Amino acid sequence: MPPSPEYGSRVPALVLVSYGYQGIAELPDGKRVDCVFRRSVGRPLCGDRVELEMTDQSACAVTAISPRKNVFVRADRQKRKQSIASNLDRVALVIAPRPAPSTDLIERYLVAISSLGIEPVLVINKSELLVSDPQAETPPFSCIDDYRALGYPVVKVSCKTEPGVDALLPLLRGATSILVGQSGVGKSSLANRLVPDLEVQTGTLSRSTGKGTHTTTTTIMYSIPGGGRLIDSPGVWEYGLWEVTAQELCAGFPEFLPFLGSCRFNDCSHNGEPGCAVEKAVGNGQIRRWRYDSYQRLLEQNR
Ligand code: GDP
Ligand code: ZN
Repeated sequence: MPPSPEYGSRVPALVLVSYGYQGIAELPDGKRVDCVFRRSVGRPLCGDRVELEMTDQSACAVTAISPRKNVFVRADRQKRKQSIASNLDRVALVIAPRPAPSTDLIERYLVAISSLGIEPVLVINKSELLVSDPQAETPPFSCIDDYRALGYPVVKVSCKTEPGVDALLPLLRGATSILVGQSGVGKSSLANRLVPDLEVQTGTLSRSTGKGTHTTTTTIMYSIPGGGRLIDSPGVWEYGLWEVTAQELCAGFPEFLPFLGSCRFNDCSHNGEPGCAVEKAVGNGQIRRWRYDSYQRLLEQNR
């Protein structure tokens, strides 16, 4: 074990948990330390790279936050942005046959993930339920093939039975990932499978805060065996978009891209304008109608 950094020295660290004006950060040697945030520096997010000033007191001070590669945000009902985590390499969007995805939820996530400049991965959990079950209330998941055809990587897993979750491991290794998706699709179950000592890590991260467990409301970054980090955030299931422009929305609809330059108006929002190439492509069957309908609903919700 290398010696602990000296009092007064400044060391780089990674923020694992952040709440209010304190949190827990990891030093380069893996040691975890409590830290306090200064108003002048601002509040770091889970995932932030920071500089810590070592003290001999119970908590170190965050003296700088490194520029962020990206920030995963959601919006509340008033469309106010809430930052959840930063510096993500991957967002795993978990969906399941049950509960069936609520309308447009996947599209909202796809728009948000595209805005981070990273490629979404669709994780179909409870995939054993996909076999056609005559008793099932929900129709088979025909949209999965559509998403695959649109170019999104799709991985089928199960926390209960075959094929297990191994197919996800190569995607998470060496990367910082977050699991997002509707409540009940199995995010916690997946986190428990991917992080075998999740409870121990949760215990360490909540105990040392001295404030009891915030773990049902706090975003936490876990270490994955073999390298990599997994962020579990309870806040992301009821996912709302902030106010987005038609252009930002289109980023979540990559199949529109080939047509975007051909609309009559430069600022076409593809919502009934004359000479709209996107609408024409829908009519020709080059763009799936259900996706275009979803686009229009998201646009309307933004007005
Ligand atoms: P979360 O709300 O997204 O965190 O979902 P949970 O992990 O709490 O899971 C919701 C429910 O789905 C629980 O009853 C789990 O036992 C169940 N579940 C999770 N994964 C699977 C799976 O692969 N197959 C089946 N059949 N059930 C699962
Ligand atoms: Zn158009």
